[in-house]
Amino acid sequence: MSRRRRRHSWALEFRRSDPEVRALSVRGQTGLFYASNFARNAKERTDAMLAGQELPERLDASDLGSAIEVYAAIKQARIELFGKDLSNSAIAYRMQQRRGREPCLCADPGCFRPLTRLAHASKRYCEGHASGKARARRHRRLHVQQASTT
Ligand SMILES: [Zn+2]
Repeated sequence: MSRRRRRHSWALEFRRSDPEVRALSVRGQTGLFYASNFARNAKERTDAMLAGQELPERLDASDLGSAIEVYAAIKQARIELFGKDLSNSAIAYRMQQRRGREPCLCADPGCFRPLTRLAHASKRYCEGHASGKARARRHRRLHVQQASTT
């Protein structure tokens, strides 16, 4: 698949405050920034075309920096956000599912970390608590016992 055929519209659906974005590495964040630039440019061109106006120039990777680094950073963002370098259609599907999910917090008592809406629906714990779901559950029971004795 050609890099030029890559769609970047997903990048516009993320907000800086989203847990997925906050979890990104510096390179991943840079990649998301580049991808959102491509997405905005593509949207402006589509809007102009539909309105019968002159099309803004197509954004080129070299407008943003070194083309190799720009594409590598965007790939990094995709891998960090979606777990792997998914195809356009797979990303579209994941984003559609994400839209249908309410933002929610880690199920561990006392933990208020927001969960990524990209995660599988069965995911209930944040990164810090996911490693030992059973442990977290024991932990919760302990808290309940403590609360009932005080
Ligand atoms: Zn947690």
